[in-house]
Amino acid sequence: MTAFSYRTGALHAEAVPMEALAEAVGTPFYCYAATAIETAYTDFAGALSGLPATVCYALKANGNLAVVRTLARLGAGADVVSGGELQIALAAGVPTEKIVFAGVGKTAAEMAAGLDAGILQFNVESLPELELLSQVAQDKGLRAPVALRINPDVDARTHKNISTGKAENKFGIDLDQVPAVIERAAALPGLSVEGLAVHIGSQLTETAPYRAAFTRLIDLYRSLRTAGLPLRRLDFGGGLGITYRDETPPDMAAYANLVRELTTGLEADLVFEPGRRLVGNAGILVTRVLYVKDGAERRFVIVDAGMNDLIRPPLYDAWHEIVPVREPAANVDWAPVDVVGPVCESTDTFARQRSLPPLASGDLVAFRSTGAYSAVMASSYNCRPPAPEVLVRGSEFAVVRPRPDVAEIIARDTLPMWLEPADGAGEPIGEPIVVAGKAALGARGRSAR
Ligand SMILES: *Cc1c(COP(=O)(O)O)cnc(C)c1O
Repeated sequence: MTAFSYRTGALHAEAVPMEALAEAVGTPFYCYAATAIETAYTDFAGALSGLPATVCYALKANGNLAVVRTLARLGAGADVVSGGELQIALAAGVPTEKIVFAGVGKTAAEMAAGLDAGILQFNVESLPELELLSQVAQDKGLRAPVALRINPDVDARTHKNISTGKAENKFGIDLDQVPAVIERAAALPGLSVEGLAVHIGSQLTETAPYRAAFTRLIDLYRSLRTAGLPLRRLDFGGGLGITYRDETPPDMAAYANLVRELTTGLEADLVFEPGRRLVGNAGILVTRVLYVKDGAERRFVIVDAGMNDLIRPPLYDAWHEIVPVREPAANVDWAPVDVVGPVCESTDTFARQRSLPPLASGDLVAFRSTGAYSAVMASSYNCRPPAPEVLVRGSEFAVVRPRPDVAEIIARDTLPMWLEPADGAGEPIGEPIVVAGKAALGARGRSAR
């Protein structure tokens, strides 16, 4: 995590001081280090060199256009899970033949968009999804390239909310149902079944679950090919963990060696879908202390970032390192505090009883390892404009997603025709698209809804 370090007592991202950024863009803000993203990608892709591998960055970890463009320029493909993410990938210049479309609930419109773009493959997770995809492709006179996502029933040994490869999870097709699904797929005219896929979970810190899942996938691949199915691609998903606290996730050499060992002699192109691993440690969230409040039992440090900016602690019990932007002197006393946001929810708590050096109103602190699954999950709950995003490279920085005005947030809403605008509400911003009409009430009257 060398992209963020103290220089002459002040936290920097690469060569940019966070105090100067706080002045320039206000707090809270996300700051990403481009060099850290680039290094993470070249480590990942470099470790797999010599293998017939396509690295498809999982956009859902961080879909900022500038981040995706940074990776696309290095040759990364994209793993998208919605029509919206597909559009980001295309806007960032990801080559269509390096885009895979995953997700358990694709709509017909999203399938059509993927087919129109000419993506590498759809990772399909159920029989009804296969049937719809075939229909959509057939209507266009096309065959959709498909990989079947298998649920290998493997425990990824990660947090239950980010585990996806157990039989009880909604993801993938159960191993024992695969033969029947394949048989059905073969009869569908709009499909070309080209591969198999797994993705067993996120923030994996061991290779053993990968070994178990990949072995099952490869065994199935071999037997289906022996049975005459012309498969040619294996997608190993993402999930490689990062260090938030004291985890020691597998290094890239260990992961790549496992893949080499298991795929020796196998005729298959390989797809990888890393998300968190490429961006997680490349971002921080900088926030300012509003108040320090001494409660009956504990001291609360109330900061100006809220769970609307960073929801990982309440959503996944996530632990983020918190560091003061001014390097604390060696002789100060550290004491346990609760670090909380301003949102009116008790779950708006970033850390409980965390040992920190003394903090006062106006001080800046940073939450580390917030490059993945952080800004991308932001909302404007409590009508709080989500934190802006800044990308740093060397001594340069750019605001790559500005903080919206409250006026912009209000302007997303429109009034129905039976409500007059309030006095002094000011001019509406832009021309809202108003969809309105009068519905006939059915026999069941107003409650029919
Ligand atoms: C979320 C997701 C990924 C990326 O997971 P990470 O843990 O961020 O690497 C890859 N593939 C699929 C199908 C996903 O849903």
